[in-house]
Amino acid sequence: MSNVQLPDALLINGERRESGSGGTIELVDPATETPLCTLPAAGRKEVDEALGAARAAFDGSGWDNINPTKRREALFALARLIREHADEIAEIEARNVGKPIGDARWEINAGARCFEYYAGGISRFGGETIPVSSDGFDFTVRVPVGVVAAIVPWNFPFLMACWKVAPALATGNAVLLKPASLTPLSALRMGELAWEAGVPEGILQVIAGPGSQIGDYLVSHREINKIAFTGETGTGARILKQAADDIKRVSLELGGKSANVVFADADIEAAARQSPMGVFANTGQDCCARSRVLIERSAYDDFRDAFVAATKEIVVGEPLDESTMIGPMVSRGQRETVEGYINLAKDEGARVLCGADRPRDKGFYLSPTVIDGVGNDARVNQEEIFGPVVSLIPFDDEAEAVRLANATPYGLSGSLWTKDVSRALRLARSLRSGVLGVNTVSSVFQEAPFGGFKQSGFGRDLGMEAMKLYTELKNVFIKL
Ligand code: NAP
Repeated sequence: MSNVQLPDALLINGERRESGSGGTIELVDPATETPLCTLPAAGRKEVDEALGAARAAFDGSGWDNINPTKRREALFALARLIREHADEIAEIEARNVGKPIGDARWEINAGARCFEYYAGGISRFGGETIPVSSDGFDFTVRVPVGVVAAIVPWNFPFLMACWKVAPALATGNAVLLKPASLTPLSALRMGELAWEAGVPEGILQVIAGPGSQIGDYLVSHREINKIAFTGETGTGARILKQAADDIKRVSLELGGKSANVVFADADIEAAARQSPMGVFANTGQDCCARSRVLIERSAYDDFRDAFVAATKEIVVGEPLDESTMIGPMVSRGQRETVEGYINLAKDEGARVLCGADRPRDKGFYLSPTVIDGVGNDARVNQEEIFGPVVSLIPFDDEAEAVRLANATPYGLSGSLWTKDVSRALRLARSLRSGVLGVNTVSSVFQEAPFGGFKQSGFGRDLGMEAMKLYTELKNVFIKL
């Protein structure tokens, strides 16, 4: 049995709260279906208290001081603490989410890197001088938005939290972090380490509480100036409507239905070998999952056979086993949703090429599932399944590939496999997605902007772009 201590308290105004007015959250280990731990749930009372403390800290702690030394040192210290505790947080994440320990370790270290990047970015992010048509000196400054609500999902709990908290703190804001109710543990641990690192207590607070109970209240709260949200498109739309009342700043990282487009002139073997983990990593619970593979018809049979063979080699196992490539799904409900989509695909005429079964008696496991035989218009090819299911679809020429790839409400991620440089450059423009990998299923980097087109949201996480999300741009003119 592990010695890792699971977080058990909300982090409000410098205090660890072991009870909350929202009752409790009962967590289940997705690999065993047994109880994992019980946590306090925040209610409206804790939201009010945390936002009062955030406002007071924003106004009075000097965190947004023009001299950023204090912020930079605290963020570098937090990054160091995250690295020192990486194994511990990775185990918390693996047990809570069901993700493989190797992936979890990578994500925790990527979170530390995120704090380092923005700690370093503080001194490189500023305004410009503008030669205006007047006798004076004109310049712009970036100032923090104020109090930020960072609301994150359950699929990459720690990393998504870092993507929002790090640039928001770096630019001088106060942050209230709300993790998903299924996976609050690593965010709470981050909050504890942040206070230890010297982030003022009201400047970062972490509350867990059901979005269905406190979400609307939190989002429409007058103390919040900016909402940074990652989650489902439907939740994002609801938040956007509520934020409209007092013109809150909003950035939304939402769902996806990304295409992986394979041309016959590509290295078919490499594409077929690498593409399965482009959809099945994190058990398919990935907004970037390339869940539709579009294949030029002349290469279809070869690619399909190699893709299915590579899928069957994926090691499905226990989260804490180092050899595991994919673990269980996060919850019973999520597996049922995905199985519902597999049944729907069969009803829509799909052929199951592999998977679609539960490989273990206990735990929310679902085998990587490959289907074909359903057109791009089918519901399973239009809706985000958010599980280990991929659909293979043939196309006849480049124009059809682009049309099919773009024919969903989403536009988050995608890949393109070709040896033709001209075609790669043409499609890099015409595929309607926020990120694209050419001859790879990787396209997310700390240094580069990440976000969606269409119903996948707006605003960009990562890179220096993210710092813009948490600042207002002010123009100053000095009459000479
Ligand atoms: P979700 O149900 O939308 O929940 C996301 C967060 O919003 C959770 O913390 C949730 O709290 C909270 N929430 C729920 N209702 C709310 C409301 N009315 N007001 C305010 N907050 C509310 O999404 P999910 O199921 O956790 O995550 C999966 C989704 O996230 C997928 O669609 C995936 O594509 C998307 N995602 C997108 C990106 C990206 O960068 N584009 C990255 C990762 C995931 P509770 O958990 O307490 O309900």
